[in-house]
Amino acid sequence: MAEATPALEIRNLHKRYGDLEVLKGISLTARDGDVISILGSSGSGKSTFLRCINLLENPHQGQILVAGEELKLKPAKNGDLVAADSKQINRLRSEIGFVFQNFNLWPHMSVLDNIIEAPRRVLGQSRAEATEVAEALLAKVGIADKRHAYPNQLSGGQQQRAAIARTLAMQPKVILFDEPTSALDPEMVQEVLNVIRALADEGRTMLLVTHEMNFARQVSSEVVFLHQGLVEEQGPPDQVFDNPQSARCKQFMSSNR
Ligand code: ADP
Ligand code: MG
Repeated sequence: MAEATPALEIRNLHKRYGDLEVLKGISLTARDGDVISILGSSGSGKSTFLRCINLLENPHQGQILVAGEELKLKPAKNGDLVAADSKQINRLRSEIGFVFQNFNLWPHMSVLDNIIEAPRRVLGQSRAEATEVAEALLAKVGIADKRHAYPNQLSGGQQQRAAIARTLAMQPKVILFDEPTSALDPEMVQEVLNVIRALADEGRTMLLVTHEMNFARQVSSEVVFLHQGLVEEQGPPDQVFDNPQSARCKQFMSSNR
């Protein structure tokens, strides 16, 4: 039987900042329902990798396919690859949700307005329709009572849950999380991890950069260990955590327990 088209496929992705090549050819395939955790030391390229996937940063080589559709890229003057088709990138961006370390909610909008803005503008939903979806999502992440609050009236954990609801409102095919709990006080980490775990349980396709090693081990279908812009090791969580093959991955695992 033919393999199903992957939800997300990255082929040989390279990225440089000036003369510094920080991604040196990364390939990764996420099938429907995969939860892929990306681990690695600070500076190994984890954020850059996620940000290149929806062109928050521009790679200079590589291919990105979302549900089999290749993102059209063209070289800019400086050699970076930029979107060749603005309609396509806007659509694909809405299919690739991104959850940031620092939530990135719009401070001047209520939680509800944060969530309904993009579905109204990009998906063309009516206010009533978008509000109904948003209220269901707020209930799902456990902050239905905060819909009229502004971001600065929420705890960090509540803000991150609102940000996740905002991402879900766009009905993404894949969700990218860049250290979603790193900016949180320790007592708020769990409430956000619980939301992410629930998304994993319902079969969402996700890439997750995290330092929450126990969580990564429990929730992942696959673990990828990056080192200096390359995949140093990858495999099922039990294998990468318990029996890493590379010395660097071994060292990382033992110093992050
Ligand atoms: P990680 O998320 O794994 O900590 P990053 O992707 O943030 O790593 O960074 C990878 C490398 O790229 C680091 O050497 C970092 O200093 C460099 N880098 C990241 N962003 C920029 C930037 N905007 N300009 C120049 N160098 C950058
Ligand atoms: Mg980072």
